Amino acid sequence: MSENKKRIRIGIMGGTFNPIHYGHLVTAEEALFQFKLDKVVFMPAGVPPHKRDKEILPPEERYLLTVIATAPNPDFVVSRLEIERKGPSYTVDTLLELHERYGPETDLFFITGADAVWEILAWKDAERLVELTEFIAATRPGYSLEKFKKLHVLPEGKGREKGKPRVSIIEIPSLAISSTDIRRRVREDRPIRYLVPEGVASYILKSGFWKD
Ligand code: ATP
Ligand code: MG
Repeated sequence: MSENKKRIRIGIMGGTFNPIHYGHLVTAEEALFQFKLDKVVFMPAGVPPHKRDKEILPPEERYLLTVIATAPNPDFVVSRLEIERKGPSYTVDTLLELHERYGPETDLFFITGADAVWEILAWKDAERLVELTEFIAATRPGYSLEKFKKLHVLPEGKGREKGKPRVSIIEIPSLAISSTDIRRRVREDRPIRYLVPEGVASYILKSGFWKD
């Protein structure tokens, strides 16, 4: 393999996407641009191990909403990998499988909100994870970056020594949108237009999600 062969850079945007909203889409687009990624793979979680309740739509519905939301963007794709896996999904398994699929010329970038990266790096598989991927953590309204300093997770360019998480922090235009708030709005008959793509809003309303 030639030394200067261009490596492929793939972003992985994991989430429950219950439902997907503009906060997710803006974060993925900004990571794509800032890190010159070739594409971003949205990865709806199958059975989120730590979030099991009746509020969570079936995986196929969350997958569909994610496809609707990402359809207009040629650099966004949606993966069925986690929703098709039996049993709970762990990020480390997903990354191993993606490495296998894409091969050694590919670098993976795991994109998360600042809240989620904090949780991920506290998991027991954290050491394994940082060998498999770099992390791109987007600042999210309401989550302080102070914690990162305590964890010795340093901004881009630093913190890349062996055994230290490779985490870059990116700033995105603040969007105080969450799936939790969208579900609450639907339940209370408040508007969700302009918080989610139009097709996503229509599909949610016509399906009657979160109404009972
Ligand atoms: P919920 O309220 O149900 O937890 P959520 O809005 O946090 O939903 P998730 O599917 O849990 O959405 O999040 C997937 C990823 O997107 C996580 O890494 C999360 O930090 C990130 N994310 C979610 N909303 C935003 C936002 N408004 N800005 C930046 N990142 C976000
Ligand atoms: Mg969340």
